[in-house]
Amino acid sequence: MDEKHFGPVWFIPGENHGKYPYCHSIYIEGAGVLIDPASDRKRLVQLRQNPGVKSVWLSHWHEDHFMHLDLFDDLPLCISEPDAPPLSDLELFMDSYGIDDISRDYWRSLFKEQFHFQPRKPMRFLQGGEIIHFDTVTVEAISTPGHTPGHLSFFFKGPEVLFMGDYDLTSFGPWYGDVGSSIEETIASVKRLRNITARVRVTSHETGVFEEEPGKIWDQYLDVINKREEKLINLLDEPHTLEDIVGAWIVYGIEFSERALVKKHLEKLMNQGVVAMEMGKYYRL
Ligand SMILES: [Zn+2]
Repeated sequence: MDEKHFGPVWFIPGENHGKYPYCHSIYIEGAGVLIDPASDRKRLVQLRQNPGVKSVWLSHWHEDHFMHLDLFDDLPLCISEPDAPPLSDLELFMDSYGIDDISRDYWRSLFKEQFHFQPRKPMRFLQGGEIIHFDTVTVEAISTPGHTPGHLSFFFKGPEVLFMGDYDLTSFGPWYGDVGSSIEETIASVKRLRNITARVRVTSHETGVFEEEPGKIWDQYLDVINKREEKLINLLDEPHTLEDIVGAWIVYGIEFSERALVKKHLEKLMNQGVVAMEMGKYYRL
């Protein structure tokens, strides 16, 4: 993928099309702000040298957005307040994912070794609605919770670039499987982003740059949520335990993720009175 410059807003492509564990980064020329340093380690080292990095922002707390933050240990870090706690402590980080005792050792070493996790305290919190003026560009932080409680998107006035972070419009669909994630807020945030007029939309993974209005890709992205839910509701025509539901591989296909997303959908459907649970078995009402 190619690096692209939209005036002072630079799109820095992630390795392997920004697929996990990588993401695409944004660099704001003049301001020296680097957003989500998990794209391409070599390029980030170069950027730090020339034209220089003065501070790092994170769209949210996930490891595939901070993998190379260790290159910028000495620089100020900014993130939203709700997303700051997991960065302060690895145990809290794992709690935020809902990682259980049995698999904690595995994840602990992975986050330390592959993702260079080090506890970080932000210099200050970015807030939704906040407008930040740099000499080269004005940026508005937009609160887009759901994926994480404090996920931020950024609108760059002038070049009219909207960075949407992990509302990435991939065919895989949105992620909302963490303890603090929400399906309803995810849907609201995607709709909010869709309603913003922009010349260019940038996301964190895969396609990354949309210079045309994504059109039906928005609908397909949100429809993944409906399809997951439909499959789950159909399965629950017969009562199933959580283990059975996870073993049916209807939503994601990776065990940890399958369980996390299924639980979120069950929670939502039970709140809506569509599904109930008795003696450890879930069923459709
Ligand atoms: Zn994420």
